Amino acid sequence: MAEPLVAEARIVVADPAALAGRLCDHFAEHASVSRDGASGRIDSVYGRADLMPADGVLRLRIECPSEQAFFLVRTSLVEHVFEFAAEPRITWTGHGAEAGTVPYFREMTVVAATAVTPRMRRVTLAGDVGHFAGGGLHVRLLMPPAGRPARWPVLSAEGRLTWPAGDDAVVARVYTVRRVDLARGTLDLDIVIHDGTDTPGSTWARQVQPGAVVGLMGPGGGDLPPGRRLLLAGDETALPAIARIVEALPAGAQATVLIEVADAAEEQPLHSAAELDVRWLHRDAGDRLEAAVRGQVLPPDDPEGFVWIACEHAPARSLRNWLRREIGFARERQTVAAYWRRGASGDQVAEAE
Ligand SMILES: Cc1cc2nc3c(=O)[nH]c(=O)nc-3n(C[C@H](O)[C@H](O)[C@H](O)COP(=O)(O)OP(=O)(O)OC[C@H]3O[C@@H](n4cnc5c(N)ncnc54)[C@H](O)[C@@H]3O)c2cc1C
Repeated sequence: MAEPLVAEARIVVADPAALAGRLCDHFAEHASVSRDGASGRIDSVYGRADLMPADGVLRLRIECPSEQAFFLVRTSLVEHVFEFAAEPRITWTGHGAEAGTVPYFREMTVVAATAVTPRMRRVTLAGDVGHFAGGGLHVRLLMPPAGRPARWPVLSAEGRLTWPAGDDAVVARVYTVRRVDLARGTLDLDIVIHDGTDTPGSTWARQVQPGAVVGLMGPGGGDLPPGRRLLLAGDETALPAIARIVEALPAGAQATVLIEVADAAEEQPLHSAAELDVRWLHRDAGDRLEAAVRGQVLPPDDPEGFVWIACEHAPARSLRNWLRREIGFARERQTVAAYWRRGASGDQVAEAE
């Protein structure tokens, strides 16, 4: 196993013990937290953080298994230090102590944009695609303003992610990497063309031409679900992820797949070595994903069962409650995600989730 990546910070603040307490309280919702007096330790799948308050200084030590985890843990801790303490001064030593580029950012160039269906466009990007071949299904697509040279986020010496502002501001939206083709050196994003007047991601996918430059941050979040008996359910925004998940399933696995799309023209072929039972739900015919999922019989104690759902915020929240409270489906065998929210832009959804 690779050596963990380790860094230490000296954080000068007025009340180090209070800051350690607030960080522990906050991260207790997302990770396992243990305390020893004013000191604390935060453990998660992304790594470990030790918080040691002393006179006028909070010492923070982080230890993470990978570059991506290190970046997530460090930026998340640093942003919360700035949220919870007035004018903190942070000095880092160890891994990644220098200011500079974001380790999991890559600039990419559009090489093609084609229609998959009337409301889904495939944008093909070239660049360091090998970087996106593992370690999570999703990326943040950064779209620079038209007609200006692209400027990208950088990391400050304090470990803060600093975004270009004003005329150079970029728009970020989350998408699934539909396919990485290492032989061709390309990566596909399948992007839904949806209604609305101010829809940067959808508009970009509709208009973008080969040669355009974009940024990708990731990959991160969302792993292939485990288990051999899966229920996969989603709307068209989840279709790229569902297509990728079923392609990765082995022979002998079984998946029931429920996908809500606008109409029959939005159906796409799904390829898998597993046994698939696919049901397309057409909104124009009154079909709804939530009702279809609720109609499924889900044995809550099947150790090989897994439920994966991604769709609009309201059905996602309702189905999450239904699975947990009514079905009693084990939390570790379910993923229910809001991929978009009616009336809210994608950056607001990403912040709220
Ligand atoms: C982990 C993750 C993975 C995702 N993967 C994909 C993917 O592979 N392909 C994909 O197309 N999308 C994907 N999405 C969803 C996508 O990020 C959102 O739909 C995003 O809001 C689109 O940005 P936009 O700029 O087009 O619209 P925004 O500016 O974000 O929103 C503008 C308006 O459009 C509405 N809106 C947003 N999305 C939709 C929609 N799909 N249908 C109808 N109205 C909508 C909003 O409610 C808002 O009122 C993913 C989201 C997440 C969190």
